[in-house]
Amino acid sequence: MSHTLQAVRGMNDILPEDAALWEELEETLRSWLRSYGYRNLRTPLLEPTALFRRAIGEATDIVEKEMYSFVDELNGEALTLRPEATASTVRAAIQHNLLYGSPQRLYYLGPMYRHERPQKGRYRQFHQVGAEALGYAGPDVDAELLLMCARLWDDLGLSDIKLQLNSIGSPEERLRHRAELVQYLQAHEDVLDADARRRLHSNPLRVLDSKNPQMQAMIEAAPRLLDHLGEASLAHFEGVQQVLKDTGIPYSINPRMVRGLDYYNLTVFEWVTERLGAQGTVCGGGRYDGLFEQIGGKPTPACGFAMGLERLLGLMQESRAREPAAHCEVYVVHQGSAADRMAFAVAEELRNYGLSVLQHCGGGSFKAQMKRADASGAVLAVILGEDEAASGEASVKHLRVAREQVRVARSELPDTVSNLLYVDEGQEAVSELAQPPLN
Ligand code: ATP
Ligand code: MG
Repeated sequence: MSHTLQAVRGMNDILPEDAALWEELEETLRSWLRSYGYRNLRTPLLEPTALFRRAIGEATDIVEKEMYSFVDELNGEALTLRPEATASTVRAAIQHNLLYGSPQRLYYLGPMYRHERPQKGRYRQFHQVGAEALGYAGPDVDAELLLMCARLWDDLGLSDIKLQLNSIGSPEERLRHRAELVQYLQAHEDVLDADARRRLHSNPLRVLDSKNPQMQAMIEAAPRLLDHLGEASLAHFEGVQQVLKDTGIPYSINPRMVRGLDYYNLTVFEWVTERLGAQGTVCGGGRYDGLFEQIGGKPTPACGFAMGLERLLGLMQESRAREPAAHCEVYVVHQGSAADRMAFAVAEELRNYGLSVLQHCGGGSFKAQMKRADASGAVLAVILGEDEAASGEASVKHLRVAREQVRVARSELPDTVSNLLYVDEGQEAVSELAQPPLN
């Protein structure tokens, strides 16, 4: 017996009703990124597993337990569905020598894969948009990335997304802090949970990131990495903050924020909201000056961020009334063999004018076709019957307001349709109608 197949758990179908908002968000994101000079980079969804192990770090949640990794049975290659795209971006930049001669501002937008427990705002296939400024030592570019985010919240009409900032210094500074931290954690071993005990030696800084309430008091009093920063790191941190102050972007310093990936140094940040429950981090990012070398490239400073589209959409849906789903403007109804043939030409001609047109397919009575036209949400029906076909004309009926059906010569159809569409929207700009192409 066969049973119905379903999508993989934690991986969502995005149905047309919701996809309209996705498309709108993606368009906003692309034009926002372009406005800061970021260019699109598209890398494969599958990468060598070694890329993520080396870039993200062995002792991280992602590499320890969240990756979709498998061996390609055909050639034995170890592959992983990308859990994030900074590593892929850097890999591509090295492979194609993208930074030869000049730094690059690049962005990606697409699905990521992590084997996490699915819940609201947390999925196994989710989507990120990310910006990566490669070859910039900052702190100017770090600050610019933060300004970009602030502008996006504005563009999307989102408020209550707060910036948390920290500096995790250089690897040497972290090492000095680490020794002190391990000692402190060992002295408080009785309050450490299982995760923290495991991390105590592999990745002690991550213990400070724990949300376990039983450990908060201990974490609060732990030695702070910020207190171990040298002059250069402090100056960088100051530089970022100065721009934020100059441009009026509010932020708070969170000395315990370390981020879940090992490649960061100096600036790290998260944009957080309280309106999404437990999954409140909309965007995370920071500087990763060591990553190029770590995966075989020349030393190259870089900084970037990634944001989750599902979480952005969650905020968008909550913060504004749902707009009606985009629908077609014109529905072409036709009956009789001459009219049926004419329908194709008429529909194509209207599309030449930039109109969206649903041509009826599958035949049926006029009445049945008009019902479909109405249900489609189209504003106008263009009607082609035997009479219209014989006289080279077309009838137009408004489906949303009471108006006489009009009959016009085919040559006048585009104008008539446009007039009816725009006039009824209360717009006077009939003269700005799309012009047909010149050829
Ligand atoms: P979290 O703490 O929520 O697990 P993270 O630190 O693992 O986030 P990053 O790796 O920094 O997340 O990814 C950047 C952004 O991508 C997150 O802030 C979030 O908006 C989004 N994101 C990460 N994991 C998921 C997921 N499983 N489902 C949906 N969105 C996600
Ligand atoms: Mg995570």
